[in-house]
Formats: sequence, structure tokens, C-alpha cells
Amino acid sequence: MSEASSQLLRTVLTTIRRGVELGGFPEQLYTLLSKPERVVSVTIPVRMDDGRIEVFEGFRVQHCSALGPYKGGIRFHPHVTLEDDIALAALMTIKNSLAGLPYGGGKGAVRVDPRRLSRRELEELSRGYVRALHWVLGEMLDIPGPDAGTDPQVMAWMVDEYSKIRGRFAPAAFTGKPVELGGDPVRVYATGFGCAIVTKLAAEEFLGSSKGLTIAIQGFGNVGSWHAYWASKMGFKVVAVSDIGGTVYDPSGIDVERAMRVVRETGTIYNYPGGERSRDTRGALYADADIVAPDALENQLTAENARLVRARLVVEGANGPTTPEAERILAERGVVVVPDVLANAGGVVASYLEWVQNVQCWSWGEEESRSRLAKMMESNFRRTLGVWGRLRERAAEATLRDAAVVAALQRLHDAMRWRGWL
Ligand code: NAD
Repeated sequence: MSEASSQLLRTVLTTIRRGVELGGFPEQLYTLLSKPERVVSVTIPVRMDDGRIEVFEGFRVQHCSALGPYKGGIRFHPHVTLEDDIALAALMTIKNSLAGLPYGGGKGAVRVDPRRLSRRELEELSRGYVRALHWVLGEMLDIPGPDAGTDPQVMAWMVDEYSKIRGRFAPAAFTGKPVELGGDPVRVYATGFGCAIVTKLAAEEFLGSSKGLTIAIQGFGNVGSWHAYWASKMGFKVVAVSDIGGTVYDPSGIDVERAMRVVRETGTIYNYPGGERSRDTRGALYADADIVAPDALENQLTAENARLVRARLVVEGANGPTTPEAERILAERGVVVVPDVLANAGGVVASYLEWVQNVQCWSWGEEESRSRLAKMMESNFRRTLGVWGRLRERAAEATLRDAAVVAALQRLHDAMRWRGWL
């Protein structure tokens, strides 16, 4: 078990245990959620362009089905571990429940650096993943979507392979597809858009207003770039961005669309012309800004660096970017952390909207999806705030994350009771 993956699993299990205790739920709820219902580990042989056969390791973790079919992305990344995947699947159980979706939590992964593969090799690997796992997937069983390292093209190959195996067109078995295959046009920017909506609501609630505030973002991939884009449309000033290549800081404001072009063309924000730059990949986390958004990857705010954060509000676009120790330090300093399960749920909410249209053979258009997504994000945020208020009457130290988890656990607990599991 690598240090990072064990840390992520520890973070998620600690969070759930705290939620069970604070919410006064029976211990058996923790017992049921502390282990995934099913873990499938496969090998996927791919004939590479040079004629060699390479064997890739893949997983699908199905964490909890109390509320419906498993739902969660597939990640292609060179450092994925089974423990990471279990942690991320458990997070999906909490996120889907909190968002009021009729889904349980799942997550998949392949240990691969997709940038190393040719297009043909990537297609072979995507199809191979489905050939190995189709028997545990399906629109009422387990519905994968994209995650880091996978995109609409990968989902399109997967739907095609799955449809061939089943002998019928099965678009609802995967989300995040291209629009022509039943994808929803909002899905590509939905996570970042949802993060921006939550940033605005949280700024109004905790900082008094969202007018003219500054935001610093770590990660400028799918989540971070669209978070920056929509936040700037909503009136925030993006003053710092970090990614794998370094940090750019410009107190007069970064032009987000230009930054997106630079990253598309050169691979990193480091090449953005303007502002001050450094090779520090965490610079944005410590920037002089009202809000900081860790939108890159897990375990970025830790006991070692949490005191360096100058922002008054942290909005987690990535999954698991703040360790429990870091969160304690931030809370002591009065910094509110809007947790991943609340802040970055826009992606899975948009996936749900896509699935609903697919199972009804309907397509209602981008405007309608965007407005439904915004409404669902807002109502999740307000519901969680309400739970937080009530929770703090009993436990003053409860955080917004605790409230989100307690709200999610309540729905899981009730569903399990009705189903006779508890
Ligand atoms: P991505 O691969 O598109 O982008 C990742 C970004 O992080 C890139 O800008 C990369 O340069 C940067 N990065 C990578 N390693 C870094 C490091 N060590 N230091 C600083 N920056 C680094 O991934 P994404 O889809 O944007 O996902 C980011 C996070 O958000 C992940 O935790 C993912 O699980 C989570 N998430 C994604 C979605 C989604 O819809 N894509 C939904 C919910 C949560």
C-alpha cells in the first residue's frame, strides 16, 4: 500500500467514522460502509504498436448499493492503487447520497499513463476494460463515467464495446459520452461549473459577499480550468493558478480563457505570459487570495502546510485534497472548508441528468441541464448548511464536512433500514 493511497483511505474512513459518531448512527452503519461490497481486479492484455503484449492492471470497486446502482468514474493513471480506488468509491457513496441521487458508489481504475499510449493502444485498453468487466456493469447495475485520464472518447469506445457484447445499443450504461452518443453537453464543464456555484454561495454565506473576491486554484485540468472559467464569469478574480509545471500569480487577475489556450497548447500554466511564476506546484495554495481551491489531486493540504494557507475559505474541487489533520488546523484558524462531496458533485449530478435522458430516450438540451444542475447544487448546499446548524447545537466542533457526511449517512441509514440491512 503506497503512502498516498493509504492516506486517502485513512482520510475517507476517518471522515465516515466521525459522521457515524456525530450523527448518532448505529455502529453497524460504519461496519457496512467500511468495506466495499465487491472488488473486481482484472488484467487487460494489449498488443502494443511494436508487437509486444503489455498487461495492464484494472479494478472496479462497487462500494455500496443501498440507494441504487453503483456510480463513479474510471481513472487511467500510472499511480492508482486498489486502496485509492476503494477510498474513492466510498467517497462516491457519500457524494451520491448527499446529492439526493438514486445511486450507490463505485469507482474504477487502470494503472497506466495514458499519455504514453498511441490512440490505437488506448482504444484497445478501453475496450479491454469493458470485455473484462462487462458482467458487473450496466445501466441498472453499475454506471461508470470519466475521471482523471479518461474522456468522452474513452467513454465512446466503452459504450461501443459494451453495446456489441450485449447485442443492443446501451448508452445509459456509461456517462460522460460525446453528445452524438447521448452525452449531455454540460458534462464536460459540469464539475467546475458546480464548484463555481458552490464557491459563490459559500462566499456569500461565510465571507459576506462574493463581489470582487479573489480566488487561487491548484490544478488547471478539467475541474480547475472550468472552475476558474465559471468563477470569473460570476465576478471572482482568479489571481493564482498552479499545475504540474508550476505556479503563476498575478494580483491584477489571470485571463482564464488565455490560460486555457496556453495549457492546451503547451501542457502547463507555467508558460502563461504575465504575472510572477515559479516552479512550485503548490504555490496557489498559499497565495494571497480570499478563496483557495485545491482542484488537482488528493493529499495536498496536510499538517505540514495547512498553516501556510492565507485564504479564509477552501473549496475542494479535487477528491480528498485535505487530510483530517490539516482540516483541524484550518478550523482552528477559522478557515471554512467546503468539502469535496459537496463542492465537486457537479460532475456526477450532470452524469445523472445524462443517464435520466438516456433511459427515457430523450434529449432536453444544454440550457435545461445547466439550470437543473445549478438548482441541484444550490439545494444541496443549503440543505447541508441547515444540517450544519443543527449539528453544531450538539457538537460545536462539527465542520461543514461533518454536516455533509451526516446528511449523506442519514439517507443511507434510512434506505438500509427500509431494505432490512440494519
Ligand atoms: P485532470 O487530469 O484533468 O487535471 C489535473 C490537474 O492537476 C492538471 O492541471 C495537472 O497539471 C494538475 N496536477 C497534477 N499533479 C499535480 C501536482 N502534483 N501538483 C500540482 N498540480 C498537479 O483531472 P481532473 O479531472 O481535473 O480531476 C482533478 C481532481 O478532481 C481529481 O481529484 C478528481 O478525482 C477530482 N474530480 C474530477 C471530476 C471530473 O468530472 N473530472 C469530478 C469530481 C472530482
